[in-house]
Order: sequence, then structure tokens, then C-alpha cells
Amino acid sequence: MSKNREVYIIGGGLAGSECALKLVEYGYHVKLLDMKPIKKSPAHHADTLCELVCSNSLKSEELSTGSGTLKRELDILSSSVLRIARSCAVPAGSALAVDRDAFSRAVTQELIDKGVEIIPKIVSEIEDDKTTVIATGPLSDEALDQEIERITGKRPYFFDAAAPIVSGDSIDMEHAFFGGRYGKGGDDYLNLPMDKEEYLAFWKELVSAECAEVKDFEGEEIFEGCMPIEVMAKRGEDTLRFGPLRPVGFTHKGKRPYAVLQLRREDEEGKLFNLVGFQTHLKFPEQKRVFSLIPGLKNAEFMRYGVMHRNTYINLPKVVDKNLKVKGCDNLYFAGQITGVEGYMESVMSGLVTALKIVERDRGVYLDIPDTTITGALIKYVTEYDSEDYQPMNANFGILPELSDHVKDKKQRKLAYAERAVRDMTEYSERRKENGI
Ligand SMILES: Cc1cc2nc3c(=O)[nH]c(=O)nc-3n(C[C@H](O)[C@H](O)[C@H](O)COP(=O)(O)OP(=O)(O)OC[C@H]3O[C@@H](n4cnc5c(N)ncnc54)[C@H](O)[C@@H]3O)c2cc1C
Repeated sequence: MSKNREVYIIGGGLAGSECALKLVEYGYHVKLLDMKPIKKSPAHHADTLCELVCSNSLKSEELSTGSGTLKRELDILSSSVLRIARSCAVPAGSALAVDRDAFSRAVTQELIDKGVEIIPKIVSEIEDDKTTVIATGPLSDEALDQEIERITGKRPYFFDAAAPIVSGDSIDMEHAFFGGRYGKGGDDYLNLPMDKEEYLAFWKELVSAECAEVKDFEGEEIFEGCMPIEVMAKRGEDTLRFGPLRPVGFTHKGKRPYAVLQLRREDEEGKLFNLVGFQTHLKFPEQKRVFSLIPGLKNAEFMRYGVMHRNTYINLPKVVDKNLKVKGCDNLYFAGQITGVEGYMESVMSGLVTALKIVERDRGVYLDIPDTTITGALIKYVTEYDSEDYQPMNANFGILPELSDHVKDKKQRKLAYAERAVRDMTEYSERRKENGI
């Protein structure tokens, strides 16, 4: 095996796993170094790789959404992690949610089966003479901090919270009903309706509940898409009813409830349920006390409490060229959430594109992914948005260039963005084949 056919990937999360599986498809020998099971970040629990640290949802499959379009693009690029996720799906309406343990085990098994060399190691140094991808994620271990900051300068950060999980048999089914919003999605979600009195009793306790102390947290650097429930609640009495507890599309006992908490299955049998949108950093006893005020959760058994963590990333546009290579260094790449993409599938995408860029480097053919695709637009963002105010970005239509013809209807407009993205990604994939890559 020649030297440039060997790649070291540090971090076997969503990005590192996808990157490894794509590179082996191209005949590379991949050494995947992960500190598991020697050490785990505060949000990782499993010994296996490619672990989902919070929600088990990989978001919508619907083409008319940014995340649905990204999935279609990843299908065109033959993402292994997405394929495996679908094989571990649990019912979740139009969203793709997975049994997190089965998913993590299946990806780890595929890495082994495909010949990826998995090396348990807490990495603290980067060797400049080896092609290396750093995919250590938002909770990258401090052992590597100095090395990363030597290359990237000081790193920005924000805070992100995870939602609690309760056991299915501790939910009082007298106060619960299955069903999706507007009758969609069959029995995929379990809903806990509240009347006005119940909602207000819960809300009042929530806004005055005690939060856990989080190192360096000053209350401002929260990612809007993952706002803790107690922070959102403090914005106003009704804010939650327009957010995670919105009752529209539900009828219970002949009328619309005042508020509804949705629970999503964590596994096929419904042994575990995730409190959708209830990411929190309340103290654990406070989570139990306050969330148990919701009818149906009175005797809930909390299998995992919500937690908040500091997510660190890199101001990537200052560090890499448009082919994701660290400027002035022929061998070094970053992938995943550490680059400033935000979300599970976005991290998978980043790992996949990094693999393609390594292949292009070695074959001497570079092909730009069209910025009319979510993938191309995200890669453009993380390589070109050169600003001190560089913020993490997830899949959405707002990052795409305008359509050539204005489409007035909002739904049709989203579909037009999606269809253009799928068409352009298909053409791009064909161009790769024509170029022998
Ligand atoms: C608390 C929290 C909640 C989140 N909730 C959501 C959510 O609900 N939905 C969503 O889409 N995204 C969520 N995210 C973002 C999520 O982390 C990313 O979307 C995704 O996991 C990032 O993938 P990654 O591959 O970049 O990193 P990760 O999946 O975190 O993988 C990084 C890997 O690197 C390893 N590692 C770290 N340091 C070292 C080292 N020095 N040496 C060796 N190995 C190392 C770790 O063990 C880990 O396996 C959340 C993040 C956090 C922190």
C-alpha cells in the first residue's frame, strides 16, 4: 500500500465513520482512532462508534425540507451512514428516527466488516506527515485542544442541551394518546395533552426551577435550534405553546388540547421515549419534580436526564481552502461538527465530502459541488464565510441561491429548491463518474 493511500481519521463519530466508509470504497486503508472505550465525552455513553448524543431523530425525510433534501443528496452520493440509519429506523412520522444503540452497533460492525482499522486511543498529537482528518466533534477531548489551536487559533463555542428519556412503562397511558399532528404518522408519537390549568401549573414551576451549573456558561451562547426548555419558557407564558408544546393538529376527547407534549420512541418496542423539544439544563431532581407535573409523567422513570454541554468549533473559512484542505498543509483536514456544520446529518455530509476531497487530491481532479445543493451550499459556507461572526449552520433552503423564476406559493417554492438541488446533485455525481472519480 503506497503511503498516500493510507488515511488517519481521529474521531469515529458521525463524520469520522462516514468518511472512513467512503474512503474504503475508494480503496484506502483507513486507521480510525477514537478514545472510546478508554474515555468518553460527557455526552457519549456507548462503547461503540457513531453515537447519537441527544435526540434519536435525524430529522425529516420530506423533500420539501432542508434536511429531507440533504438526505436525498446523500443518497445520490451513496452515504453508508444514512443507509444504515434507515435500516435501524423506529416509527417517527415523516422524520427518520433510529434505535440509537442498534444504529451505533451496526455502523461499528460495518466499519469492521469493511476493513477499517479501529484503534482505541486518546489522541493528543497530529502527525504532519500523514493524511489526517480531525473529526473529534463538538466535545473534542481536551488532550487535543492545544494541537488544534496551534493550527486554527482560538476556537469559538456555543452551548447545546440534550432532552431526557423516560421508560415507556412508567407513562400513565390514561393521560396519553398515540397519533401524529393532523392524523399523520399513525401511532408513531405518544402525546400528553394538557388543559390550561395543568399547563400553567407546569409553566410556573419550570420558569422558577433551579438550573445546574455549567462551566463557562454565561447564558447567551445558546444555539437557537437547541434552546433549553426553561430558557424558552422564560420568554413568555405562551412561548412553549407556539413551540414544542403546540397543540395544533390534535384533537383529544373531542377538542383541541391547550398544550401537547410529544414523546418519540427510542426503540421499536416503545420501551424508551424521548421528550421531544425538552432539552434542558435543570438540575436532575428539578427535572424529575417539574416534568412530572405533566399529566402522564407523574410517575415517570427518568432513564437519562437532560444535560448541557459546551460545543467547540473552528472558524473554518480562516483555516482551509475551498477543497477543505488546511491552508499551507497538504495532509490535514477537519470534518464534522467541529467545522461549523450543525446537526447529525450535516456532520455525516461533512465526513463524506472530506473523503471525496481526499480522493480528488490524490487523483489531481477537483470538482466543485454545485452551491444549488444543500451539500454544496454548506461546504461553500464553511469554506468561504470569512467573518469573525462565523456561526454553526444546518441544512436549510435559506443558504441556497435564489431560483431563476420566482415561485409565489411557499410550499411549491421549497419543492422547487429541492428539485433543483436533486437535479444538480445527480449531474454532479455523473460528472464524477465521467472523470473516473
Ligand atoms: C449535548 C449535545 C446535544 C446535541 N443534540 C443534537 C441533536 O439533537 N440533533 C442533532 O442533529 N445534533 C445534535 N448535536 C450535535 C451533534 O454532536 C453533532 O450533530 C454530531 O454528533 C457531530 O458529529 P461529529 O462526527 O462531528 O462528532 P461526534 O459524533 O461527537 O464524534 C466525535 C468522536 O470523536 C471522539 N474523540 C473526541 N476527542 C478525541 C480525541 N482526542 N482522541 C480520540 N477520539 C476523540 C469521540 O469519542 C467521538 O466518538 C448535539 C451535540 C451535543 C454536544
